Amino acid sequence: MACVPRWTMTDSCEVLVVGAGLAGLQCARELQAAGREVRVWEAADDVGGRIRTEHRDGFLVDRGFQVLNPAYPAVRRWVDVGALDMQPFGAGLGVRRDDGLAVLAHPLREPQLIAGTFGSGLAKPREVAALLRWAAPAIVRSWGQYDDGGRRTAVPVRDVTLRQAMDDARLAGGLRRVVERFFAGVLLEDDGSTSNDFARLLLRTFAFGVPGLPRLGMQALPRQLAAALATPVRTGTAVDSIRREGGSMLVRAAGAELRAEQVVVAMDPASAESLALGIDGGGATGSGVPAMKGVLTHWFAASEPPTRLNLLCVDARERPGGPLVNTAVVSNAAPGYAPAGRHLVQTSALFGPGRPVPGDDAVRRHAAEIYGADAAGWELVARHEVPNALPVQPPPLGSPQPAEISPGLFACGDHRATASIQGALESGHLAAQAVLRPDFG
Ligand SMILES: Cc1cc2nc3c(=O)[nH]c(=O)nc-3n(C[C@H](O)[C@H](O)[C@H](O)COP(=O)(O)OP(=O)(O)OC[C@H]3O[C@@H](n4cnc5c(N)ncnc54)[C@H](O)[C@@H]3O)c2cc1C
Repeated sequence: MACVPRWTMTDSCEVLVVGAGLAGLQCARELQAAGREVRVWEAADDVGGRIRTEHRDGFLVDRGFQVLNPAYPAVRRWVDVGALDMQPFGAGLGVRRDDGLAVLAHPLREPQLIAGTFGSGLAKPREVAALLRWAAPAIVRSWGQYDDGGRRTAVPVRDVTLRQAMDDARLAGGLRRVVERFFAGVLLEDDGSTSNDFARLLLRTFAFGVPGLPRLGMQALPRQLAAALATPVRTGTAVDSIRREGGSMLVRAAGAELRAEQVVVAMDPASAESLALGIDGGGATGSGVPAMKGVLTHWFAASEPPTRLNLLCVDARERPGGPLVNTAVVSNAAPGYAPAGRHLVQTSALFGPGRPVPGDDAVRRHAAEIYGADAAGWELVARHEVPNALPVQPPPLGSPQPAEISPGLFACGDHRATASIQGALESGHLAAQAVLRPDFG
């Protein structure tokens, strides 16, 4: 393709992917595998988007606590999980009740903890029956609602909010509180407004897989995808305009210009929408900007672990003692996150407009209460405010939005599929397929 001299030298390629989060990287990888000449431009100083890992004082800390579940269909299909050297959490939950920390264990994966679960009185038969009524459709294989890429293939029931579905199943009491508090940390909302179908998809993933952390931190996941690219991701390159010129697209960033036959916008929703305003006369990604939910994660160093449990812990008391939606001694599951002889505790609280921002002391106090331990000696390693962690996912849970926006212009990202690692990878895959479609036609 001809080079056009301009304010800076114009490069060219077949496909430019804008954004090196999971969606953009997966898309680029598949395009490259299909023989396309692909470039990836990324605004940040490294790949990963919302999945970044920092080194702090010998600890590994992710920018906001998150986990990788190998049972996501997209992870099974496109990620070399073995190479990530996963450090799994236990299959269960630590549950703070009025009388201390109890364990709710996965009946098949942690059978040795089952006696404790029933002995604790956490699971009353009536509540367990209601829980099964609510959860069964996610567990029974015949539900068959997702194809092997995690894409919805049928909608057997009317989707409602998670709260409505739990009411319908008459799930109440202590077990309901456990489920609600667990999902508050996973969905980053505490009003049960998320799609019940989506919550059950996640539940299914937790039932069939054990989440964990890569030995080198969560960012090892996007790094693995990026390492497969023949042309390294160009970081520090924030695209500020995309416009159609002749039969191709002209893309500009500070100090760089590129002409591409096709462009995939793989940016977070707000950035994608503001950039799209300049493409094809505006509103080009066609999705609107979904509201985003946030999280505040504190990482503390401890000389003694407050519990030996390698489980996510929630406060399921009627009146929780503070702002946390969950906490975990991360180094109990992932020793690689802490230097020898030290321990790493994460705490997560919901974060966003209208919510008071808890101080470090309030967070530390609540964590100490959950574990029934003394947290006075904990040192703050890092504090991450992540306002745009997850897009909202209200009912009904539809199929992913079409990737092709207009001829030569495509979009992907978790906000176009489901608010998850699964959704980001799947959306990247669908965008690659859309770019390649004429080849198959
Ligand atoms: C704290 C936290 C906890 C989470 N926990 C989980 C979890 O436990 N399980 C789970 O499944 N999911 C979880 N998620 C969600 C998951 O991380 C995301 O769904 C996924 O990473 C989104 O990937 P993406 O590629 O769609 O978007 P992003 O990661 O947002 O990537 C978009 C990229 O575009 C780049 N960009 C933006 N503007 C420009 C521009 N102008 N020019 C060039 N590049 C640009 C951005 O810098 C970014 O790199 C969590 C997310 C967070 C933040």
